[in-house]
Amino acid sequence: INSMIATGILATGTYVFQAEVRRDDQVVRDLEAALWSGDLRLYFQPQVSIDGTIIGAEALLRWQHAERGLVPPNEFIPIAEHAGLMRKIGYWVLQQACRTLADWQRHPETAELTLSVNVSASQFLEDEFEQSVLNLVSTFDIDATKLKIELTESVMVANTEQVVAKMHVLRAAGIGMALDDFGTGYSSLGYLRRLPLTQLKIDRSFVQDVTEGERNAALVRSIIQIGRDLDLTVLAEGVETREQLQWLDDGGCDEYQGYLFGKPMPIEGFEAALSEQVRQAAG
Ligand code: C2E
Ligand code: MG
Ligand code: MG
Ligand code: MG
Repeated sequence: INSMIATGILATGTYVFQAEVRRDDQVVRDLEAALWSGDLRLYFQPQVSIDGTIIGAEALLRWQHAERGLVPPNEFIPIAEHAGLMRKIGYWVLQQACRTLADWQRHPETAELTLSVNVSASQFLEDEFEQSVLNLVSTFDIDATKLKIELTESVMVANTEQVVAKMHVLRAAGIGMALDDFGTGYSSLGYLRRLPLTQLKIDRSFVQDVTEGERNAALVRSIIQIGRDLDLTVLAEGVETREQLQWLDDGGCDEYQGYLFGKPMPIEGFEAALSEQVRQAAG
């Protein structure tokens, strides 16, 4: 009886495993098709200064799926990463971002906007990554100081010299470098100090708790202080309430992003929000 049960469990386990592999294979094929058919989209979430002025956006990937609707990145990026598809997808994202910046830079009202692009650790560590970014900057003839690359602490598992060297190449071209989700990883302050960063993004989890007691507020103040000490601009992610904003402002934060100011939206929505701002400023 025991061996029958064991065989049954094994068989079930194998079946589940194969079903999952098949499902992921299908996702990978669908994703590749999406890349060519234009079903990948970039959404834009406003980044604002303390007075609420939109100073730029973060580009966030979406998959417009025929049956499943709008699929968020956390549901397909890990699969794409695993299947080795992130190089192609990541390149497409950078290309779209540079195209958007080129478009913005043709008009005085949008010429100063920055655009942040998320780059995964594996994508960043590819040999030709920096060169491919520089090539896009020159192809689209954009002011590179308006392009920002967001990395997470996960790149730091790699060889330090290599990471620092790659970042220096991008910085030398004027491209901004932001450390995303700061506080959730394991990077040491000694290591951080060696990276040529321009911005620190406080993870949403800290922002959410900033109003929940003095200990949480003190933690956020410490994170902001680290950014200051390293000479970086400090952006708070995931700001949802006026109360959080007040605490962050008191703590000395420079820039903000979150549902309070706007959710990620298609380019038309983002540009409409910009026009509204220009219209209001004009009185
Ligand atoms: P992230 O880079 O930290 O992006 C911020 C995430 O927080 C976005 O989720 C955004 O929609 C969400 N968010 C912003 N403000 C708020 C808020 O006030 N409340 C709440 N609850 N959420 C807020 P999203 O778009 O689902 O993206 C998730 C993650 O997927 C991103 O986190 C980033 O790590 C990754 N990702 C997105 N696009 C790309 C891409 O083009 N390439 C790569 N490699 N990763 C990407
Ligand atoms: Mg990001
Ligand atoms: Mg983040
Ligand atoms: Mg995140």
